[in-house]
Amino acid sequence: MSYAIPAPVVPSLPIIGSDQRFPVRRIFCIGRNYAEHAREMGATVDKDTPLFFCKPADAVVTDGADVPYPQATADLHHEVEMVVALSAGGRDIPADQALARVWGYGVGLDLTRRDLQAVAKAKSHPWDVAKAFDHSAPVSALRPASEARLDGDTALTLIINGEQRQHGRLGDMVHGVAEIIAILSTLFELKAGDLIFTGTPAGVSALKRGDQFHAELAGVATLEGRVA
Ligand code: MN
Repeated sequence: MSYAIPAPVVPSLPIIGSDQRFPVRRIFCIGRNYAEHAREMGATVDKDTPLFFCKPADAVVTDGADVPYPQATADLHHEVEMVVALSAGGRDIPADQALARVWGYGVGLDLTRRDLQAVAKAKSHPWDVAKAFDHSAPVSALRPASEARLDGDTALTLIINGEQRQHGRLGDMVHGVAEIIAILSTLFELKAGDLIFTGTPAGVSALKRGDQFHAELAGVATLEGRVA
């Protein structure tokens, strides 16, 4: 068998303390998972109907690469989020078995073309053009779960040009990691290599060309980069 065109490269993330890389299969994201952020967007949390969307695997930006300012927007927003990487998947995973499928954790930016999202919301269109564009998912190196200490007080922080823009704690998530995996697995058969962006705390705002970002999941992972 040979391909008619060159096969796409498998996107991957670096791993803290290893030369191996984590291959990315799909990127799932949950929206409105911190009540304060839902409020700042003029939305409310609907706990019974979580909001999910996807980004393509090759939207990841890794290894400190610049994020090119995307086309078709004048309002690029940052959303700092904990990123969960799966080593196994399945359908209808019970919440109490979900964390055993987590390979590791990192921190990422769910970059959003906020102006296009506002149009999509107004017209009841899907969010793909607002969320799933090229280079829309900068992600840090991953920390293996066995080495990651996380609890409700673990802080998620985003600093732009030395100034803190977002700060939250994991305990403020509406749906925790195990619950997100359990719910997602009722909608999709999850697989090894899938990433999950777990939602953003309040404080989202615009990024400009030249902005330097520093995102941190305290004690676990750090992401540095620049909008070019
Ligand atoms: Mn988000």
